[in-house]
Amino acid sequence: MRSAKKGQRPRKIPLRRCLGCGESFPKKELLRVVRSPEGTVALDFTGKMSGRGAYVCKRTACFEKARRAKRFQNNLGLDIPEDVLDTLAQEIRQYEEENADE
Ligand SMILES: [Zn+2]
Repeated sequence: MRSAKKGQRPRKIPLRRCLGCGESFPKKELLRVVRSPEGTVALDFTGKMSGRGAYVCKRTACFEKARRAKRFQNNLGLDIPEDVLDTLAQEIRQYEEENADE
């Protein structure tokens, strides 16, 4: 497990708030959940998908917290089916596993 470096915080990095823990992080450290113009919801690992985004840490704990409080729905302004949330949860878990080996 790597811990994020603290201390250095260049001014120009845009910060976004995690819907789980409520803390602000540089955009690229967060996972973006995007509502597409078609009204579907997807995980945006590239940060380049168009649409309205909500942010959460790439951690299951934060995702589940935001999910339980329905913060994705509130933030994106639409209903998100449970199976979509399950898929997002799985992808985050996979991300965690893939990055646990460092
Ligand atoms: Zn968080």
